[in-house]
Amino acid sequence: MIGVDSGSSIGTVTAAPVSAGTGVLPAPGTDEKVILSIRDLNVYYGNFHAVGGVSFDVPKNQITALIGPSGCGKSTVLRCINRMNDLIPSARVEGEILYHGQNVVAKGIDPVAVRRRIGMVFQKPNPFPKSIYENISWGAKINGIKGNMDELVETCLRKAALWDEVKDKLKENGLALSGGQQQRLCIARTLAINPDVVLMDEPASALDPISTLKIEDLMRELERQYTIVIVTHNMQQAARVSDQTVFFSLGEQRMGMLVEVSPTRELFTNPRDQRTEDYITGRFG
Ligand code: ADP
Repeated sequence: MIGVDSGSSIGTVTAAPVSAGTGVLPAPGTDEKVILSIRDLNVYYGNFHAVGGVSFDVPKNQITALIGPSGCGKSTVLRCINRMNDLIPSARVEGEILYHGQNVVAKGIDPVAVRRRIGMVFQKPNPFPKSIYENISWGAKINGIKGNMDELVETCLRKAALWDEVKDKLKENGLALSGGQQQRLCIARTLAINPDVVLMDEPASALDPISTLKIEDLMRELERQYTIVIVTHNMQQAARVSDQTVFFSLGEQRMGMLVEVSPTRELFTNPRDQRTEDYITGRFG
C-alpha cells in the first residue's frame, strides 16, 4: 500500500513531498510503535552470502544498537536500511525492510527519496568544505527544502547541541571545527533534510572520550523526536545509550546472522543466548 505524504516541516521550513518511484513514501503515523520492520534480510556481495535471514523490528523514538564481532554484517544491515548498499555494485539484497509499512528495498522505490526520510551519519565526520551555515542550508536546498534558511540553520544546530558553540562563526569553514563539533555539524546537516530515522555507523569511534559522551547525550536528546539505529563496536556505548540491542554473530562460511534482539538492559544482564553471553563477557569476539 502506498500512502500519501503532504510534506513535513521544521518551523516555517517545508520539506518537499517525497516521490518514491511508483508513488510516495507513507506519511509518519502518530500511533505506530514500530517504524522499521526488517524481514528475512539476506545480503550478498557477489557470491559471498554476507548476511543471512535477519529479522527484527525498530521501535519508534528509541535507540536500537547493532553489536557483534567485526565482519558480522552490522554496517551492511545498516546501509540496507537507507539503500546505501545500492552504491556497491556487487551488493544484492533480498527480503523486506518495511518503513511505515512500505518495503523500501522493493523495485520502483527511489533510493534518494528513502535517504531523505532515513538519514545517515558516518564514522568519520565528513562536513562539506563550506561554511557552517552552508553545510546545513546547501544540503537542505538541493533536497528541495524551502523557506527561512536562517531559521532552519539555527533550529538544526540547536537540535545538534552545537548552536552555542558556533552561533558567532557561522561563516567559518565547517572543517575548522574540532572532530566532535564536525560530527555534530554532520548530525545537524542530516536533520535539516527532515528525516524521522537517523542511522549512525560508529559515529563516535573517531572521537575523544569527551566528544563521545556529547554525541551520546545528543542521541538521548534526539530520540524524543527521531528514531535512531546505531552500529557500535563499543559494548559499553550500546549499554549506555540504547534501548534495544541486536546482537549479530558469524555463522558458517562467515555469514553474519542475528542471534538475539532484546531490551538493552536485559541483553546485558540476562542474555537469552549462550553466544550473547560469551560475547558480552569477553569470551568470544
Ligand atoms: P561489520 O559492520 O559487522 O564489521 P560489515 O557489514 O562491514 O560487517 O561486513 C560484513 C561482511 O561483508 C564482511 O565479511 C565484509 O568483508 C563483507 N563486505 C562488506 N562490505 C563489502 C563490500 N563492499 N564488498 C565485498 N564484501 C564486503
